[in-house]
Amino acid sequence: MTRDEIDRLGLEAALEQAHKSLREGGIPIGSALVNPAGVVVALGHNLRVQTGDPTAHAETVCIRNAGRRRDWHTLTLVSTLSPCAMCTGTAVLHRIPRVVIGENVTFRGREDWLRQAGVEVVILDDKRCANLMEQFIELHPELWNEDIGVPPEAPAPAPVPGTPAVTPPPPRKGEDSGMGKVRRGPRRAR
Ligand SMILES: [Zn+2]
Repeated sequence: MTRDEIDRLGLEAALEQAHKSLREGGIPIGSALVNPAGVVVALGHNLRVQTGDPTAHAETVCIRNAGRRRDWHTLTLVSTLSPCAMCTGTAVLHRIPRVVIGENVTFRGREDWLRQAGVEVVILDDKRCANLMEQFIELHPELWNEDIGVPPEAPAPAPVPGTPAVTPPPPRKGEDSGMGKVRRGPRRAR
């Protein structure tokens, strides 16, 4: 099976997992591990909301579901979203040589760490993955920020009557803290 075929097959399986999580009331991120023969050896989706486990990200759950094995070095890890620092570390630890990413527009994880570790990173720029996350972040910004450790907004000061509204500060970026680029949800109008 060609790499392109493995990537597409893996992405479809991962996207299906993302939708499953959404139906369960969770974060719509899914992951799959595919071997060179095109066999999906493990699946996983984000379970943080469902189980209360803060480390239950899709890629980490998928790797967990793969169990004990010695063929990590042959596998492709596919995720609907760019993997965070934790999932990147888990993949690098197990010497997974390829990571395929559905989209990295709504969140950019530690692709730089993957590349530094010699991992082949493939960005598919899949609009279905991006739309799924965009819609989710729009509807549940607090749930998403919880997923990536973004602290709650400081309470806004009470507006003084007759003064113009204060322009909100630009979104913070956490690229150097291991948290990846963060896209915040929309601010509520005051
Ligand atoms: Zn993660």
